[in-house]
Amino acid sequence: MLKLFPELVEHDGLIESDLLSVGAPPGLHQPQGTFWIKADHALPIAGSIKARGGIHEVLEFVENLAYKHGLIVDDGSYLSLDSAKAKAVFRQYKVAVGSTGNLGLSIGIISAALGLQATVHMSVEAKQWKKSRLRANGVTVLEYTGDYAQAVEAGRLEAAEDPYAYFVDDEKSVSLFAGYAVAASRLQQQLHKKNIPVDAQHPLFVYLPCGVGGAPGGVVYGLKHVFGKHAHCFFVEPQQSSCFLVQMQHPEHEGISVYDVGQNNQTEADGLAVPAASLLAIDAMRSRLSGIATMADEYLFADLYALQSNEGLKVEPSAAAACSGPRALFNTTQGRQYIEANGLGDILDNANHILWTTGGLFVPPDEYHEYLARGATVNQQIFAAS
Ligand SMILES: *Cc1c(COP(=O)(O)O)cnc(C)c1O
Repeated sequence: MLKLFPELVEHDGLIESDLLSVGAPPGLHQPQGTFWIKADHALPIAGSIKARGGIHEVLEFVENLAYKHGLIVDDGSYLSLDSAKAKAVFRQYKVAVGSTGNLGLSIGIISAALGLQATVHMSVEAKQWKKSRLRANGVTVLEYTGDYAQAVEAGRLEAAEDPYAYFVDDEKSVSLFAGYAVAASRLQQQLHKKNIPVDAQHPLFVYLPCGVGGAPGGVVYGLKHVFGKHAHCFFVEPQQSSCFLVQMQHPEHEGISVYDVGQNNQTEADGLAVPAASLLAIDAMRSRLSGIATMADEYLFADLYALQSNEGLKVEPSAAAACSGPRALFNTTQGRQYIEANGLGDILDNANHILWTTGGLFVPPDEYHEYLARGATVNQQIFAAS
């Protein structure tokens, strides 16, 4: 990986992000504990949390191909996978994926770098710059007028007819999920290095933006494995695209969509604009997830602006959703009830809160400045009183 992506040198070839100390997000009534950001908005190669799952799955596919074609030489070194011989083999294969943008970036860029063909089926909300960036990397981008579920289905069908095609299935993939889960042990090491305890006296709260549920679900699966009941994990979804919440509330209706309950799936959080949850993630979260918060889109921009002006961090709207998590915990009756029901009231000053910012590194400056301008206005309106 280091050979293909020199920017990974800082982490010895690993794709990892920093754990940053930050102030509490705006608008909290009596916040308690210490706040952190897990800076996946700056993950290299893909510029979002999708670097974790997407690259893991493509590397697993390529490793299997390499064994099948005898490309891994005697010393077991994977450097031979960057050889002309290996590339001639990989060129025959095509990796495909359906995406609202960021998963496509992750899968497309790593596939192209390894010499595979890559096709990304983009749903209607995908941003133009994400499509352009992929095309500049030699990836085929197919654009759909339908939503994310339709783009995934189109990609799945096309790949099923081609014996050389491999489809990364965001709604069902265990390999993607496993790639995300690795984040938990990395976070554990980072907390350890900073002498931050997670135990019965020091609860850990984690807030993650949720689309189909695979990325945050994988991370939470890992966190509960590592920290057990001391980790309290919350998803955050847009009010009009709260597919995970809707599926959790309707276990009897498998595959229920946000349209079924009158939501329109319109949100500026393109990474979260998903009409139906991953059932794999739902199954894994039933016994592990502490709760789900939803927020109106204006908060995305207000928080995006606050992250820039208070912390100097550049995130995309989807990632800013994490900041609504602590407001749901501290400012709502349900949040307070959760604290009381779990006996956390007396130890809340010892808590650590992690806002998982999931994307933003590659947002073009023009686009980002529009977000900021919009955020400056709504930030005043929303938080002026508090
Ligand atoms: C994809 C994505 C998410 C959510 O991941 P899901 O697996 O769809 O739940 C959150 N934030 C950003 C920026 C994303 O790209």
